[in-house]
Amino acid sequence: MVRFATILNCKILDIPFTYLGLPIGDNPRRKVMWKHVIHKLQKRLARWKNKLLSMAGRVCLINSVLSSLPLFYFSFYKMPRTVQKEVESIQRKFLWGEEQDQRKVAWVSWDKICRKKSQGGLGIKDLSLFNDSLLAKWRWNMYHDTSNLWVRVLESKYGGWVKLIEGDNKKDYSMWWRDLRRVCGGDCSEQWFDKCMNWKVKNGKRTRFWEDKWIGQQTLAEDYPRLYINSGQQQTTIHNMGHWLEGGWEWSFRWRRRWLGRDEIQWEEMMGRLQEVVLDKNSEDHWIWMVGNNMEYTVKATYDQLSSWKNGGEEGGVYKELWSLNLPPRVSIMIWRLLREGLPTTMNLKSRNIELGESERLCSLCSRAEESTSHMFFECGITDCVWKTCYNWIDLATVLPANPSNHFQQMPISISSKKISDRWKVLWSAVVYNVWMMRNNIRFNGRRLQIQKCIQDIKNDTWRWLSLNKQFTYSYTQWQADPGGCIMDGGSHG
Ligand SMILES: [Zn+2]
Repeated sequence: MVRFATILNCKILDIPFTYLGLPIGDNPRRKVMWKHVIHKLQKRLARWKNKLLSMAGRVCLINSVLSSLPLFYFSFYKMPRTVQKEVESIQRKFLWGEEQDQRKVAWVSWDKICRKKSQGGLGIKDLSLFNDSLLAKWRWNMYHDTSNLWVRVLESKYGGWVKLIEGDNKKDYSMWWRDLRRVCGGDCSEQWFDKCMNWKVKNGKRTRFWEDKWIGQQTLAEDYPRLYINSGQQQTTIHNMGHWLEGGWEWSFRWRRRWLGRDEIQWEEMMGRLQEVVLDKNSEDHWIWMVGNNMEYTVKATYDQLSSWKNGGEEGGVYKELWSLNLPPRVSIMIWRLLREGLPTTMNLKSRNIELGESERLCSLCSRAEESTSHMFFECGITDCVWKTCYNWIDLATVLPANPSNHFQQMPISISSKKISDRWKVLWSAVVYNVWMMRNNIRFNGRRLQIQKCIQDIKNDTWRWLSLNKQFTYSYTQWQADPGGCIMDGGSHG
């Protein structure tokens, strides 16, 4: 049995060493290591290349193909920047590949696309942050899984989690260890890992009294530098800084030199704080992950936190409202692009240095002005006529701002409840969507301008989309007769 276990142990050890590659010795910065990942990604996405997919479908595919890649690469190695760029470029080309006018332009920056939907993105995974959240789990595991073989290997080779966070980079560190230090250890300038965790000291055996951040926002060494310098126990764990008596725990300190008057003040303050500390000799120290809900490290919660730090301050409100509406994905994405100034209007083409003929530059609807987003959707005489018809349904006569997100968010005064304003926003979405469709049909399919048809399409779409909400119970006939009444009714009809 013992022999069997030994063999089994060897096997466990062998797997990462020979099959997955040897992270503690290998050089993850070599691009050849990543060829497999890139190839696989290309192959998977290529399968879908010629299928007719909406942009919403392509977003889904990009994320699902990514999660089908061999994740152990991402959880062992820090992806080199050049590889990351290459993978992103494959994803980007796939996302924007099938534009109607075949110009493969990235209409919204990749950085913005990678934000969470509630933060104004499309929720495509940010590879670098995803990679970091997977890698940082090593630090967590190094501290907690002390019986794990891997952790013992790392302990003997590098000194384990302690050496991950302290000291300087040593020449004999492997690339892998350096990367880990850079992502979540001592060489990480943001120190984000430490911001996410708290120390929970129990028996004090795995926490250093002076140098770990176990009480308050800083280490005691930082809080009381005079005492720390004088201490004869600078690296000592809490467990070795005193002993258990019958009445409980008693501290014992050793000092290098006699005290000066100023030390006294720091000492009293520190001892005051230590009185609050309750040790427990029967349980182990551990870390608490403050991000997410289950106190333990999770890749998902960590990724979300990193992402919101990176994109902090981003105006999220208008996007939250957009994604909360019950709209077909192709419509939500079209509106997302409108809000992101990422629709291929001729002004936007021009700003991306795409040459257009003189006649092509003009608004397809009125041929009177250059086609910018605000012109086409809000200022154009034709569009204005469409809006006025819809405003009429709810007896509204007002001038709304020409900036897409303000226009989307500003509610006519007569609209008072969230229910009604959501319905109004569905109608709003149907207007901009159908105006865009009408424009494309004129520009690319040689259709004539048909305002009445556009309004009828808006009316039909709005009813269909509102009906996705079960509480909206108006029949098609009722809706056709009085759309404004159906929208403004705050009563029983949902
Ligand atoms: Zn126009």
